[in-house]
Amino acid sequence: MGRFYLTTAIYYPNAVPHLGTAYEIIGTDAIARWRRLRGDDVFFLSGNDDHAQKVAQRAAEQGKEPAAYCDEMAAAFEEAWKALGVGYDEYVRTASERHRDTVRWFFARVRERDRGRAEPLLYKGAYEGLYCVGCENYLREKDLADGRCPNHPSRTVERLKEENWFFRLSAFEGWLREWYGREPGWLRPAAKRNEMLGILGEGLQDISISRPRKAIPWGIPFPGDEEAQVVYVWFDALINYVTGARIAEDGAARPDEPGRGPGFWPADLHVVGKDIVRFHALLWPAMLRAADLPLPRGVFVHGFVNTGGEKMSKSEGGAVSPVDIARLHGPEALRYFLLREVSWGADGEFSLERLGERYASDLANTLGNLLHRTLTMIEKYFGGAVPEPSDNDYGPEGDTIHSVGALRLLLLARREQAMRAYDALDFAAALEAVTDLARQANQRIDSTAPWKLMKEPTGEGRKVVGDLLHGIADALKNAAVLLSPVLPGKAREMALQLGLDGEAFDALRLSWPAEGQKDVEHLDEDRYARAFAEVDALAVAGLATRKGSPLFPRE
Ligand SMILES: [Zn+2]
Repeated sequence: MGRFYLTTAIYYPNAVPHLGTAYEIIGTDAIARWRRLRGDDVFFLSGNDDHAQKVAQRAAEQGKEPAAYCDEMAAAFEEAWKALGVGYDEYVRTASERHRDTVRWFFARVRERDRGRAEPLLYKGAYEGLYCVGCENYLREKDLADGRCPNHPSRTVERLKEENWFFRLSAFEGWLREWYGREPGWLRPAAKRNEMLGILGEGLQDISISRPRKAIPWGIPFPGDEEAQVVYVWFDALINYVTGARIAEDGAARPDEPGRGPGFWPADLHVVGKDIVRFHALLWPAMLRAADLPLPRGVFVHGFVNTGGEKMSKSEGGAVSPVDIARLHGPEALRYFLLREVSWGADGEFSLERLGERYASDLANTLGNLLHRTLTMIEKYFGGAVPEPSDNDYGPEGDTIHSVGALRLLLLARREQAMRAYDALDFAAALEAVTDLARQANQRIDSTAPWKLMKEPTGEGRKVVGDLLHGIADALKNAAVLLSPVLPGKAREMALQLGLDGEAFDALRLSWPAEGQKDVEHLDEDRYARAFAEVDALAVAGLATRKGSPLFPRE
């Protein structure tokens, strides 16, 4: 069992959550649940990025103090995430005292390394240039389209001329290039790595990391220049990941962290959107290097959810409330749709019509239908107890009822596919493997026609039906386990209807080789079958089924 620390980006609370942020946090939640199922000790961090100019502007529009406004919004965000079934371990706030404390600690570490350096990493200089409040980022003339930020055409780009603190990012150019050469899998998908190498090829410029406090009062006072400057929002925001890990002065976990030993940092995985990959893949590693802290073990970049070809961005007014969408077919149907349709790592389309189609085809007509008809037949033909398997030999391939015996082989193949896919963060393939298992099980019911076999006077037909229903109940149990990262509530409901004990189901773990053993285990073809030892040991034969209302009601 290993420790696994993963994070989402943190969210600007200048508007309520939109579908794009919901997609990110739902996907990360699924990774967290998958890692827990694999037996890891998971710590899942999300949070809000309070210190942004656009947040202060929105608060002012509403006649509120930024701090009070951010508190309100944080409550609204957490409520939304809860409604979508997201179970992070902690929700970090950059306006919290704990985070300010971490930022001061971080700066102290950098300054310590700066002492006596001819070209200090932190230095004061004059900044003259452009700033987009929508991006909360400095722009160059060549980034503009018709004098405006291409991502925020409705905003006016600010022209700044001010004295700021700078971070000597240029000093890390060679080191970053080496890093990417040494760690090809660190930034995924691979296309993003090439993008970063391209930027490194053009050369890195030092960046301004403070703003005058007179102009921007909402922010963390710049350590060492508290009266005059505040920390630039991105420099402050990235440090949240260390705040979440609760590293103390000596690099050990804080005393308020029972059960978690020292060295909680680095994070195992940062999940971020493609619009902020530079911050995470160039600036953040350089910052950590400057503070002499280890780098995260990986960064994964997901794409955008488009509605009608447009990026769903709250600041451009294209917001669709994920909580409202979740009311249509339930939050787990939305989770399923997003992770099945929007390939993790690429862009995808969202429409209410497609959501309805997926709901009907995969959830109601395939999974829900399979559970319902299987339990109906177990009640009708076997008095509500999952039949014991017989000693029937289902003969060679091509035999008419061969498919009954071969169901187990199909199950083994599909669950291995699903596991491989989850490990590769390919949710679409994992969900398709499980749905296909259910689809084929439904077909086997149709082709075997239990209602006819049950009429055979010899009793042989009943044996075949018993084996079929036992095999399908076992497949449904496995499906419930494999769907639990994406459909945690529905998966548990499936297990309960099958007659499994809820707590026994919750406690199931897939025994998986530890990270360090991977290379050796890679050669072992049986590892996927063995990983399910606990699941296989929880037998379905003899269970008293509890058919309830349909899992995914048809509309
Ligand atoms: Zn912009």
